[in-house]
Amino acid sequence: MKLALVSFAAFAALASAATADAPKLMLDENAVPQRYRLDLTLVPGENTFRGTVEIDVRVANPTRLVWLNSQDLKIGSVAWHAAGGDLTPVLTPEEHGFIGLQFNGPVSGEATVRFEYSGSIGLHSNAGIFALDEDGETYIYSMFETSDARRAFPCFDQPEFKTPWQITLHVPRAASAFANSPQESETPESGGMKAVRFRESKPLPSYLVAFAAGRFETVDAGRVGHAPVRIIVPRGHTESAAFAAKSIPQLLALEEKYFGRPYPYEKLDSLVMPISNFAMENAGLITYGQSLLLAEPSDDTIERQQECTLVAAHEMAHQWLGDMVTTRWWDDVWLNEAFATWMERKITGEWKPEWHIDVVGAQSRLKSMDLDSLVSARRIVQPIESESDIANAFDDITYEKGSAVLRMFEDYAGVEQFRHGVQLYLKRYEWRAATTQEFLAAVSEGAGVDIAPAFRTFLDRTGAPLVSMAVDCSGAKPVLRLSQKRALPIGAPAASSPAWQIPLFILYRDGTRVRTLRTLLTSAHQEIPLPGGCPSWLLGNNEGGGYYRVRYEGDLLDRLFGAHGPRLSAAERVSELGNALALVDTGDVAPARALALAPRFAGDPNHDVVEQAMYIAGILERPDVPDGLRPNAARFIREVFGARAEKLGWSASGDDNEETRLLRTRLVPFVAGEGDDRTLIDGAEALARRWLKDRGSVEPDLVEPALDVAAQFGDRDLWDTIHKQALAEKDPAIQERLLHALGSFRDRTLAEASLQLMLKHEFDPRETFRPLLTGPLDHPETWDLPFAFVTRHLDDLLSGLPREVGNDYASEFPFTGKVFCDVDHRRALDDFFRDRVKNYTGGERNLRQTLETIDVCIARRKAVEPGLAEFLKAH
Ligand SMILES: [Zn+2]
Repeated sequence: MKLALVSFAAFAALASAATADAPKLMLDENAVPQRYRLDLTLVPGENTFRGTVEIDVRVANPTRLVWLNSQDLKIGSVAWHAAGGDLTPVLTPEEHGFIGLQFNGPVSGEATVRFEYSGSIGLHSNAGIFALDEDGETYIYSMFETSDARRAFPCFDQPEFKTPWQITLHVPRAASAFANSPQESETPESGGMKAVRFRESKPLPSYLVAFAAGRFETVDAGRVGHAPVRIIVPRGHTESAAFAAKSIPQLLALEEKYFGRPYPYEKLDSLVMPISNFAMENAGLITYGQSLLLAEPSDDTIERQQECTLVAAHEMAHQWLGDMVTTRWWDDVWLNEAFATWMERKITGEWKPEWHIDVVGAQSRLKSMDLDSLVSARRIVQPIESESDIANAFDDITYEKGSAVLRMFEDYAGVEQFRHGVQLYLKRYEWRAATTQEFLAAVSEGAGVDIAPAFRTFLDRTGAPLVSMAVDCSGAKPVLRLSQKRALPIGAPAASSPAWQIPLFILYRDGTRVRTLRTLLTSAHQEIPLPGGCPSWLLGNNEGGGYYRVRYEGDLLDRLFGAHGPRLSAAERVSELGNALALVDTGDVAPARALALAPRFAGDPNHDVVEQAMYIAGILERPDVPDGLRPNAARFIREVFGARAEKLGWSASGDDNEETRLLRTRLVPFVAGEGDDRTLIDGAEALARRWLKDRGSVEPDLVEPALDVAAQFGDRDLWDTIHKQALAEKDPAIQERLLHALGSFRDRTLAEASLQLMLKHEFDPRETFRPLLTGPLDHPETWDLPFAFVTRHLDDLLSGLPREVGNDYASEFPFTGKVFCDVDHRRALDDFFRDRVKNYTGGERNLRQTLETIDVCIARRKAVEPGLAEFLKAH
């Protein structure tokens, strides 16, 4: 928190000088809120709301100017009540989300400030107070993270300011109303309205306040300890909440057990919004996108259930980590997000061991190390200097690298010891805000081992370490030679980085005995004598739990995968295959050598391992491969994976277990699409056509893959049918599948027709944005279309999309160039966006990372293409 403290001091100086310059990013700590009373009138169907808010504040040093946050609100009156008498401050004009209260003389001590105001209910954005329609009904919701509470009420909109909130909502009598706390009373009012008053909440920061109004229905999911658990759904959807109602209380009980303390709030409501891909951990009132939380029992899939479980476990973990103990400022937001990501896997793994969620963790670790290989990657704890930095902070470095590093130090400290540390942290900071430093100190103390210095080397620095391991058996005793440097792709600008302190967890076999070696690698080079004889194999990253890549020297890699190698767990197989693939990009493993691993693991019993083998074969689908050799690439994929895919086919048999069903949904579309397998393509088309005629006739988990493959090879007639059905579809989950299919057409005219739908206002632009704009990037036939489309229609696109800070869709436009691999396209992308991204919150970093991804691709292509061409010619 060093940097943030410097900022506090700077702004404090501004405020006491009573200048009219608004703060740029943060409020000072001179005026601190103590308690809020919020009173809002919310009528579904109306475009505005009215409100009053009373804030008890304490002003430390006398000042003539008190700053707070307010954005796009019409303030009718403001009054200042203090023991010395009432004052009417003059408001400064709103300046990027800040307003100032100006007084004739200095004010200090305790006071209450009262605002009467009105604001608008968003119809095209999920920021602030907004409305969503479902089946002819309108529902009102709120969403405030990170900086949108100021759109709903004037407030001190920073996570460190935690106070009790008393909320009263005035809503039509036919509607129900919800907030963070249980309802206290309901009083009829004139004009068909009623007042719903909620109990005062536990201390909450403004970004976690939430409420909703509308004709919802409620599903009772029992109790966990003292807390009633409910699922709140749009009308007519109670039956679709069955899985959520069963799983949520069980997951919550497991989290209580891990944290060793009860769920912190009086009740837990899970509130459904009719949108896709969304979840927010509001205290006591978690909100979820409909397709995540609800599914008709006849239409449900294992993948949906897994996602629902993981997301619910994540949002509920936040109730302790994020809500009860809150990050002090957004530079430490990993304390919320990495923790919740780490907990979601721990708890889901405990609840359903047969899902092998540890393998998902290994996959995510690999993915975040890919992002971390960019020189322009963020650090986990990155100083926040602008609103763009806040928007960028919610990326895979925060979530995935953060959770991977937590997992590594959990192993290092010991699972139980680490748990004691987490419990001490929660106890010490309950209902308060905390920093990274405070977290590391508490966990070290509770765990009985000082993890802070080593942990910090991963928090404050970009990149993942590449650890070289060599065994020297030439002397009397075998010696393990270790060295570390940053893992960087071929052609990356050389970056020297100081040594990490890396907890290594190594297994090796000495004669008949498997030994473990735990050590902290703290310097650039280190030699460790190994007890026993010369190892016959060595595994450098046990369970794939370490956040580092391994370069095996000599024949260690061959021995690891050889006939006499170790029996690797599924997580280790995924981790080692991913490691080999990543080392192709660093230039440490020849492509042919990695590709030779694909056939070895194509028959693996675990579907995630097969998927990792598919990623390896996916090298052949990258731009690195000369176009003329693409048919050879498809032939290789058929040779390696075809027999198994055809045996699985497009229809499930009654005795398939979950593993087989999951494998089918990944492998069959891969061989059809990337392997150009005619039989499987025809099968997908038949299945898709059948489902489009009769929704109940196809296994739910095959619908999306079959539609996707059918669309890739589909014609205008199929496009028209899918488009028509997407327009008529009321169920957001099914509409999501249909829109995804519209983004998958490889025919350029049809892909362009799908992009044009983003301009036509037939669909909510929030729902078309990702499937239609990013779908064409998956196929070489269409991957230049999205960027060209954005350049032609930029103004139209911008006028229809949400543009709030932290929710600025425009910031993702540069990603349309992420698959480019040549200098001309790179220049075009840079020329077009260089100045424009300055106006997209978070856009500058996204452009920088995209350009670097293109540079990496260009360099890799040059280095790898000859080897790939040679490999393919031989096939
Ligand atoms: Zn989260």
